[in-house]
Parts: sequence; C-alpha cells; structure tokens
Amino acid sequence: MEFRKLRLSGFKSFVEPAELRIEPGLTGVVGPNGCGKSNLLEAIRWVMGENSPKSMRSGGMEDVIFAGTTARPPRDFAEVQLHATDDKGEPLEVTRRIERGAGSAYRLNGDDVRAKDVGLIFADAATGAHSPALVSQGKIAQVIAAKPVERRMMLEEAAGIAGLHVRRRDAESKLRSTEKNLERLEDLMASQD
Ligand code: ATP
Repeated sequence: MEFRKLRLSGFKSFVEPAELRIEPGLTGVVGPNGCGKSNLLEAIRWVMGENSPKSMRSGGMEDVIFAGTTARPPRDFAEVQLHATDDKGEPLEVTRRIERGAGSAYRLNGDDVRAKDVGLIFADAATGAHSPALVSQGKIAQVIAAKPVERRMMLEEAAGIAGLHVRRRDAESKLRSTEKNLERLEDLMASQD
C-alpha cells in the first residue's frame, strides 16, 4: 500500500482545509516547534482507526477537533481523508469524521463502513495505526523498554497478521452462537420425541 495524499479539516491545529501530497520515497516534515508536525502523523494514525486518546496526546477523542483560539471559534467537527493505492494499484480513499457529541464515522471510497473494516484493511497491509512504520517521538525508547508481549504485537503488525486476531475473535463468537443454536435444536427435537 502506498499513501498518496492526506487531507485535513478541523483536525487539531489544522483548522482550515489542508492538503499534503505524499510523494514516493522518503517524506520529511520540517517546521518550527509547535507548528503541527506531530499532528500530521497523528492524523494518519487517526484515519486508520486509532481509538486511544493517549496516543493522540488527547484527554478524549473529541479533543482532536480544533479547540479554538482567542481569535477563532472552535470547530464542530474534524475530518481526515487518506488517499492511497492498494497492493494492486487500485485507489483507496478512507475518510474519518468526528462530530461533537456524535462520535466517529468512516467512509471507504465514498461508502459508509465500520471502524473494524478500515482497521482490517490497514492491518492486512501491515500498516495499521500501531504500525512500527510510524515512528513518533519517544517511540524508539518505547520499543527498547517494551515487554515481550508488546514487542510481539509490534512484530505482528509489521508482518501484516494483526488482523487475524480480529477475524479469530469473530469466528469464535460465530462458533459459540452456532453451538447454542444446535443445543436449542436438540432440545426442540427431544421435546417432540
Ligand atoms: P514539536 O516540534 O515541538 O514537537 P510539532 O511541530 O510536532 O512540535 P505539534 O505537537 O504537532 O507540533 O502541534 C502542537 C500544536 O497543535 C500546539 O500549538 C497545540 O496548541 C495545537 N493543537 C493541538 N490540539 C489542538 C486542538 N484540538 N485545537 C487547536 N490546536 C491544537
């Protein structure tokens, strides 16, 4: 998967709609302290489904919405759109939008989808919100200090198998409900004997 373009509106310090083209090769973001460099990386993580306010340096998820300044009122929503191409070169457009009091909604190529669907697409491409490909400040020290189980999770993300855990949980839950249905069927058949 290749990222091509990032669009932000109302996300953290990016109050006005902003567009960032991501060219092939290495991309560097430079600028003075506090200009929003880390916010860009967080926007990429957020559109891929990040749901931990802590990893967004926020108290709650709505804190990603532009909070206003003395000169500008706060915004009611934040939206981030990531344009990418999948491994077959097909275009992929993922949008996440959050509105105050209404939570997040996701779109994939214009269609409404669940957070889980978006998470699986990126996890299968080995580039999810927790991917080791996104190296934020302090991350290297975190990798060194990580517990073995945390390190294993990083390796699984890198190997593109993190989505298998979600599918396994889904399959187990389907299996349990099918087992319950079978028990119920046996009860019904026994009561008719
Ligand atoms: P540094 O080089 O110091 O690490 P940086 O360029 O990475 O800085 P960020 O940490 O991305 O900068 O941006 C911080 C800025 O974003 C601060 O000015 C902060 O006020 C602003 N900011 C963060 N969240 C919001 C929000 N919800 N609304 C408005 N501004 C916000």
